[in-house]
Amino acid sequence: MLLRHTSKEVKEREGLTINPAKTCQPIGAMYAALGIHGCLPHSHGSQGCCSYHRSTLTRHYKEPVMAATSSFTEGASVFGGQANLLAAIDTIFAVYDPDIIAVHSTCLSETIGDDLQQITKKASDDGKIPDGKYVIYASTPSFVGSHVTGYANMVAGMANQFAESTGEKKSQYNMIAGWMEPSDMREIKRLAKEMGINIVLFPDTSDVLDAPQTGKHVFYPKGGTTVAELKSSGDSLASFALGSISAEPAAIALEKKCKVPFETLDIPIGLSATDRFIMAISKMAKIEVPDEITAERGRLVDVMADMEQYLHGKRVALFGDPDQLLPLTEFLLDLSMKPVHIVSGTPGQRFDKEMRVMLEKRSPETKFKSGLGADMFLLHQWMKNEPVDLLIGNTYGKYMARDEDIPFIRFGFPILDRIGHSYFPNIGYNGSLRLLEKILNVLMDRQDRDALEEKFELVM
Ligand code: SF4
Repeated sequence: MLLRHTSKEVKEREGLTINPAKTCQPIGAMYAALGIHGCLPHSHGSQGCCSYHRSTLTRHYKEPVMAATSSFTEGASVFGGQANLLAAIDTIFAVYDPDIIAVHSTCLSETIGDDLQQITKKASDDGKIPDGKYVIYASTPSFVGSHVTGYANMVAGMANQFAESTGEKKSQYNMIAGWMEPSDMREIKRLAKEMGINIVLFPDTSDVLDAPQTGKHVFYPKGGTTVAELKSSGDSLASFALGSISAEPAAIALEKKCKVPFETLDIPIGLSATDRFIMAISKMAKIEVPDEITAERGRLVDVMADMEQYLHGKRVALFGDPDQLLPLTEFLLDLSMKPVHIVSGTPGQRFDKEMRVMLEKRSPETKFKSGLGADMFLLHQWMKNEPVDLLIGNTYGKYMARDEDIPFIRFGFPILDRIGHSYFPNIGYNGSLRLLEKILNVLMDRQDRDALEEKFELVM
């Protein structure tokens, strides 16, 4: 009973967050930067921030995550970190030889008022950026937003700082990945190939954070979107932004800079969101959906229909990131389950609106909160007052699941105590089938565990 002090009585809180359902902006910026080939993320702040961000990503992916830091000490904290960043850019290109340095700010450098645009321009003017190399930046103050907004800011920075319009369109579409796993990005590429369209996927952490063991250490793995691809995104026919919070800002930047029209879609988690994703490609590119994808859909629908009796009416609490919670909640409703409590620490009026519209139509009794005060403590209180059959969320949910003795599925970021999330997709029809399998397994395991001997069935 590690959370035994969680009380049932819910009180309004304004100035206190307990067990936040989010983490800090630079983690998202660092993750996005790793999705560019040959990129070294750089944290403009103190060493402690950078260590925390690297260690969280390393624990989630079980891969060594490299990043540099401006190593603020007392002097930089008072007078600003320009000198530190300029020295860092010199050292990084000389010693680590990346193609790109992707700088993100931190609470400290933002509070001082360091201007990354001005400092990176000075680095360029002073000749510190070798020919053919780049320094990009994103502002990621962590006293606002979350890891999701940090990710969105860095991805928008990629579009802003790399995309070029030559005036000649290429036969390709931009696929702007919202926050998803390397396995999901790999699945997006597979689905696009099946559909027969050329895409520029960015960022792309597949083959970076799920790189195979070869016996040799490489500082910059073969994966990641290349600079040439990022530049060419300005000549694409259109963009698909997968996630209104984490991907749409980059699509807007591309439209403004290079006049590339865009469509915003949910991350394709579950049946309905994947249907919309596939149909949007089909419509935009004027192509028929291939038989193989129709068959994948059919397999998912078949399992949904076969197993409905184990899912119907099961009550679920979930917490996590906005762009994942929306399609995940929709998928639970498609499975005839009951999302009872939903919490996201990431603030955002757009997300609130989209979630409320969906819930009003399909599940008006669901409790939902995001942003300030939407933390895991509140979710736990809600669960104590109105119990659920299943909890879905990141690793930190295990404490609540243990206290309440309910099945738990790890989903989202971070997952520190299991593997699989970076290797097996949760998106598309196949990924949704895997997610459905996980849901069924934990519910049926619980049924087996609790069954009386005379009701303990071999075939369920
Ligand atoms: S919240 Fe701010 S101070 Fe804390 S690790 Fe993140 S950037 Fe650093």
